[in-house]
Amino acid sequence: MKPHFSTNLNTISSETYRLRLNKIDPWQNALKQLASAAKILKLDPGVHEMLATPKKILTVSLPVKMDNGKIKVFTGFRSQHNDFRGPFKGGIRYHPDVTIEEVKALSMWMTWKCAIVDVPFGGGKGGIICDPKRLSADEKERLTRRYAYAISEIIGPGKDIPAPDVYTTGKEMAQIMDVYSIMHGQAEPAVITGKPIPVGGSQARNVATGLGVAYCVREAAKKIGLRLKGARVVIQGFGNAGTFSAQYLEKMGTKVIAVSDSKGSIINTKGFDSKKVLDYKNKHGSVVGYPGSKKISTEQLLTTSCDVLVPAALENQITPQIARNVDCKIIAEAANGPTTPEADEILHKDKIMVIPDILANSGGVCISYLEWVQNLQRYYWTFDEVAGKMEKHIVRGFNDTYALSKKHNVDMRKASMVLAVGRVLEAYDARGLWP
Ligand code: NAD
Repeated sequence: MKPHFSTNLNTISSETYRLRLNKIDPWQNALKQLASAAKILKLDPGVHEMLATPKKILTVSLPVKMDNGKIKVFTGFRSQHNDFRGPFKGGIRYHPDVTIEEVKALSMWMTWKCAIVDVPFGGGKGGIICDPKRLSADEKERLTRRYAYAISEIIGPGKDIPAPDVYTTGKEMAQIMDVYSIMHGQAEPAVITGKPIPVGGSQARNVATGLGVAYCVREAAKKIGLRLKGARVVIQGFGNAGTFSAQYLEKMGTKVIAVSDSKGSIINTKGFDSKKVLDYKNKHGSVVGYPGSKKISTEQLLTTSCDVLVPAALENQITPQIARNVDCKIIAEAANGPTTPEADEILHKDKIMVIPDILANSGGVCISYLEWVQNLQRYYWTFDEVAGKMEKHIVRGFNDTYALSKKHNVDMRKASMVLAVGRVLEAYDARGLWP
């Protein structure tokens, strides 16, 4: 049977896809990750249970008048996992396979992600079970506005600030902001992030993930004594995350020697000009065929001798078989979940530094935070100002994760969870349990 989820990365939920491929219940997976950090931190069982339980989960029914005049009722969710550190924060996804378990897991992961880069948010996530490809623009707008109305009681600039996720864009964010603003009788841009610039969106949002990846690589290079000038970079996936990772790493002096997209992989050991490769891809539909390049297989791409490997495409790309042959010093996970747990162990043994996805691709949530701050202060920053502020969050998140990995003698992935859970607990200790 054909799967009814798309493999187009513009539309797919990468976490969902990965978890389905592995037949893993996302919520059980999230609980296991928490349990491993709890063990290292010797968490009190009661506190552990508190962190393992979302604070609030709202299920809403969404009647929508379809273009044919009939009413169809959709189901939506909003999970608010934890707000010890600040208002809940997390995207809204539209997908036929959205489940409450998935939304709960994603909201927990947002709690950790915000804590790692020390933005003052907790974790939330929302979703509507729907197939957006089968909705007209008008139906999608009515659904979005009805959802905004249905969750309006629990969201707000100081309560819960949603953002785009799978199948949602700035357009839906502007519609949600509009509904919320009408209901409150005043413009409330800070209720949501990922908005278009004219209604309070932030500069640098489109490059955020790639720029954050480049900052992480730069910090990792300092730790392992790798000179970035001339360092060889391989990028898997040449979409938003991959191209901006390539462009910013190039600006730092590295040489991008191999890239790939869904149609294939190419190499030129002398190095590419990644902007020109992108122009070529935009014109010809793929990087394959770029003048002066040689076509190679995915396996060859991932095991090419290089200094930095940036998986920026799919999940589960670095399997144990690939991990045994990987020939690089740093892996920066721009994609979500590109490394399997078994491969992780091999890479750790081989002393390859893996910058985990939750840290490497956290540029987006940093810029979301900065968008919210700009909305609250009604004062907007330039691209450089936003990028500079984001850099501080990412660099600190990287260095704190690295320090914990040394302290506990664990890999960066485990260290990032220990850091995140530890920070949430610090906030809990300061606030206490009431009554
Ligand atoms: P995108 O759709 O813009 O680009 C994905 C790229 O991967 C495309 O170039 C596509 O051709 C390529 N690709 C698809 N299948 C491939 C294959 N088998 N081999 C090689 N390349 C392949 O997506 P994106 O936004 O860049 O996201 C990529 C990854 O980064 C995803 O895992 C996503 O969850 C993660 N991510 C992205 C962001 C972001 O802000 N864009 C933020 C966090 C995480």
